[in-house]
Amino acid sequence: MPRALITGITGQDGAYLARFLLSKGYEVFGLFRRSATAEVADERLRWLGIAERVQPLEGDLLDLSSLIRAVQAAQPDEVYNLAAQSFVKTSWTQPLLTGQVTALGAHNMLEAVRLVRPQARFYQASSSEMFGLVQEERQNETTRLYPRSPYAVAKCYAHWITVNYRESFGLHASSGILFNHESPLRGIEFVTRKVTDGVARIKLGLARELPMGNLEATRDWGHAADYVRAMWMMLQQDTPDDYVVATGRTTSVREMCRIAFAYVGLDYQDFVRPDPTFLRPAEVHALRGDPTKAMTKLGWKPEISFEDMLAEMVEADLARHRRRLNGG
Ligand code: NDP
Ligand code: GDP
Repeated sequence: MPRALITGITGQDGAYLARFLLSKGYEVFGLFRRSATAEVADERLRWLGIAERVQPLEGDLLDLSSLIRAVQAAQPDEVYNLAAQSFVKTSWTQPLLTGQVTALGAHNMLEAVRLVRPQARFYQASSSEMFGLVQEERQNETTRLYPRSPYAVAKCYAHWITVNYRESFGLHASSGILFNHESPLRGIEFVTRKVTDGVARIKLGLARELPMGNLEATRDWGHAADYVRAMWMMLQQDTPDDYVVATGRTTSVREMCRIAFAYVGLDYQDFVRPDPTFLRPAEVHALRGDPTKAMTKLGWKPEISFEDMLAEMVEADLARHRRRLNGG
C-alpha cells in the first residue's frame, strides 16, 4: 500500500487530494495544527465522508521538529506540501507570517524530507499568482515571474527552493503551478465562493446585497477535483519537473457573478455593490494559463466545466443555508 503525507489536509485541496489518494488505495497521513477549535478542523474531510480514513499527525509548518516527527511517523512514498497562508489579501495584513509559512514553511518541509526520507517524492503547491503582472498573454512554465503580493513573493521562494532541492540534492521534487481552482469546499473569502454563498443567501432572503471589489479582473478558473489529479500525476513521472495546470479559458469576476446569479434566476446588477474595502494594494488583473505541457506529458485534462462548477457551488451553498434555517 503506497503511503502519502499531505500538509494542508484540512484545506480545500488537501481534502480532495486525500479522497483521490484513498480511492487509489493509498494510506493517507495528514498534518493537523493544534487549534482551539479542533472539532471543526476536519470539516472538509467530513463533508467528503473520509475523515475517519485519514491518519492525523500533529505538526506546524513553522516547527521543523514537528515536521521531522511527522515524516518519521508516516514514512511516506509521496509528500504533498499544500499548507500555506493562501489568501492573497491577507498577505498584505500579515505579510511576515505569510513569508514564514508560505515560503520558509515549504523550505522546512523540504528539509524534513531531505533529512528523514530523501527517497520520497515531493510536490510543492505553487501558484499562478507568481505570474502576477503577466509578461505573456498566456502563461506557461517559461513565462517570467512578476509577483504582485507578499503571498506571490513567498510562493516564488517556495517554488525556487523546490527546484533548488531537486538540483542540489537530487530530490524527486516537482512544482505544480496551479491556476485558481474552486469547489464547494473553497474558503468563503475567495471570490467564487463568496459569490455563490452570496447568491444562496440572497435567494433565500437572508441578505439583500453583495459588496464586491474589482469586477474587471479575469481568472482562469478550474475545479479542485480536476487539479488534485494533476498533482498526483506529476509524482508518477520518472523525472521530477514543473507544470502549469490551467484550463486555458479566462472569465472576468463580473461574468462569474452574472452566471452565478443567473443560475437562480436573478440579475447580478440588482445585488452586487462596489465596496473599496475589497480592492487590493496591487492587483493581478488577468491570468490565463497554457496547460500544454501537463496535457501532453502527463495526459491530464480538466473534466468539469466552469458553469457546472458554479452550479455545484451554488447548490451546495443553498443546501448549507437551508440546513441552518431548519436548525440543522
Ligand atoms: P486552503 O487555504 O484551503 O488550505 C490551506 C491549508 O494550509 C489548511 O489546511 C491550513 O490549515 C494549512 N496551514 C496554514 N498554515 C499552516 C501552518 N503554519 N502549518 C501547517 N498547516 C498550515 O488552501 P487550498 O487548499 O485552496 O490550496 C492548497 C495550496 O495550493 C496552498 O498552498 C495554496 O496557496 C496553493 N494554491 C491554491 C490555489 C487555489 O486556487 N486554490 C491556486 C494555486 C496554489 P488550517 O485548517 O489549520 O488553517
Ligand atoms: P486570488 O486570485 O488568489 O487572489 O483569488 P481570489 O478569489 O481571492 O480573487 C480573485 C480576483 O477576484 C482578484 O482579482 C480579486 O481582486 C477579485 N475580487 C473582486 N472582488 C472580490 C472580493 O470581494 N473578494 C475577493 N476575494 N476577490 C475579489
